[in-house]
Amino acid sequence: MPVLHASPTIEQFMEGVRRRNPGEAEFQQAVQEVAESIFPYIKDKPVYHEWEILRRIAEPDRVIMFRVCWEDDKGNIRVNRGYRVQNNNAIGPYKGGIRFHPSVTLSVLKFLAFEQTFKNSLTGLPMGGGKGGADFNPKGKSDNEVMNFCQSFMTELTRHVGEDTDVPAGDIGVGAREIGYMFGQYKRLTNKFVGVLTGKGMEFGGSPIRTEATGYGAVYMMEGMLKTKDQRVEGKTVAISGSGNVATYAAEKVLQLGGKVLTLSDSSGFVHAKNGISQEQLQWVMELKTVRRGRIDEAATAFGWDFVEGQKPWGVPCDLALPCATQNELDEDGAKALVANGCIAVAEGANMPSTIEAVQAFQKARILFAPGKAANAGGVAVSGLEMSQNSARITWKEEELQQLLRNIMQGIHDKCEEYGRVDDDYVDYVNGANIAGFVKVADAMIAYGVV
Ligand code: NDP
Repeated sequence: MPVLHASPTIEQFMEGVRRRNPGEAEFQQAVQEVAESIFPYIKDKPVYHEWEILRRIAEPDRVIMFRVCWEDDKGNIRVNRGYRVQNNNAIGPYKGGIRFHPSVTLSVLKFLAFEQTFKNSLTGLPMGGGKGGADFNPKGKSDNEVMNFCQSFMTELTRHVGEDTDVPAGDIGVGAREIGYMFGQYKRLTNKFVGVLTGKGMEFGGSPIRTEATGYGAVYMMEGMLKTKDQRVEGKTVAISGSGNVATYAAEKVLQLGGKVLTLSDSSGFVHAKNGISQEQLQWVMELKTVRRGRIDEAATAFGWDFVEGQKPWGVPCDLALPCATQNELDEDGAKALVANGCIAVAEGANMPSTIEAVQAFQKARILFAPGKAANAGGVAVSGLEMSQNSARITWKEEELQQLLRNIMQGIHDKCEEYGRVDDDYVDYVNGANIAGFVKVADAMIAYGVV
C-alpha cells in the first residue's frame, strides 16, 4: 500500500511537470489549469495524494510517434509525422479525435489527450482519453493526395487502435472525407468491419447527429448556464469564432433557439454580419468550407458583411461568445473587451481557446464561463453512442439521439454546478468540470492499484 509522504504544493507539482515535459507549453498550460482546481479539492482527501493520481493522469499511458510517407500528385515523396497519445484508459477504451494541421506537435496532442480524459469522464459514458494527428496540411491538397496521406497514416495506426482499445474520431482538418479514407484502409488491412472510428458516414456505421453534436451541445450547455440566471439564448446576440464543424453547428443551434449570430472566422480573419447571419447564409458557409474549401472572406463578399483581416471577433459587442476555432485564440485583451462590451456568458466550443489570463478575466468579472471539456463534450458523447450502436449493430433514431445529447449536456451542466457552486450567485464551471471529471477516473485508478 502506498505511504503518504508530505503532499507536494501545486508549485512543486508543476515544477515536476515542466521538468519532465520541457518546451511543451500547451501541455503544461492544460495541466496547470486542472491542477489549480484539483489541489484545493484534494487538500483534505489524502488518498488521492497517496496514490499519486494527478501525477499519473498527467503522464500519458503511451505515446506513439511515426513517420507518414505519401506521394503527391506530381510524384514527389512527402514525409509527415504522425502521433497517437493514449493518455488514460481507466474508465474505458482510449477515445479522442485526430487532428491534421501544420500546428500539430507532441505538446498540442498531449494537452488534448489530457483534457479529453476529463471530458470523456464528464459525459458519464465509459471512455478513456486519447488524441492523435499529424502535421499534415489538408488545405490546398487534392482529394487523391488526402487519400494517399490518410491511407499511409492508417497503415501505421492500425496496429495501435481497435474497437475495444482505442477509437479515434475527427477534429480540426479531419472530417467525413478523411474518416472515410481511414476507415476504408483499416477495414482493408484487418479484414474487420468494426467501430474503430467514429464520425463515420451513415452508409457505414455512422450515427445520426454526430456531425452536429459538438456545436449543438455547446449551445445546450450555454442554455443550461443562462437558465441559472433566468436567461435564455432567444433574443441574444452571439459572437462565434471558427467556421468549421463546431462553429457552424453552434451557429445553427443559436439560430434555432432564436439568437442572432454576428460573427464567424477562419485563420485569415473574421466576418461581421451586423444584421445577423441567416440559416441560408450559414448553409452557404458550410458548403464553402466543406465542399469548395474556400476562405471566409468569400462569404463577406457574397453577402455584403464586413471582413476584418487577421483579427479575432472578440471586440464585437455581443451578449454571448462561443469560441469554436482553436486553442489560445481568446487572450486577456479579447476577454476584457468582451466583458467591457457587456457579454454575460462564454462557452468554449473549441478545446482551450481561452488563455489562462482570459479565463481569470471572466472569473474576476463573474460572468458565466464554461470550459471546453464541459461545453464541447457533446461530440464525444455522441461518438460514445456511435460505439454502442456499432457494437450492437443497430442504428438509433435521430429523435432518440437528440434527446440523449440534450440529457447528457444537462447532466454535464449539473455535475459542474454540483462541484463548482461557489455561492448563490456564482458557479465556477472550471472547477466543477475539472473536479467532476477527475473523481471518476481517480476512483477507478485507485481500484486498480499500482498499474
Ligand atoms: P474544423 O477543421 O472543422 O474547423 C476549424 C476552424 O478553426 C476553421 O474555421 C479554421 O480555419 C479555424 N482554425 C484552425 N486553426 C486555426 C488557427 N491556428 N487560427 C485561427 N483559426 C484556426 O475543426 P472543428 O470545428 O472540428 O474543431 C474546432 C475546435 O473544436 C478544435 O479546438 C477542436 O479540437 C474542438 N472540438 C471539435 C470536436 C468535433 O466534434 N469536431 C469535438 C470537441 C472539440 P481555417 O479554415 O482557416 O483553418
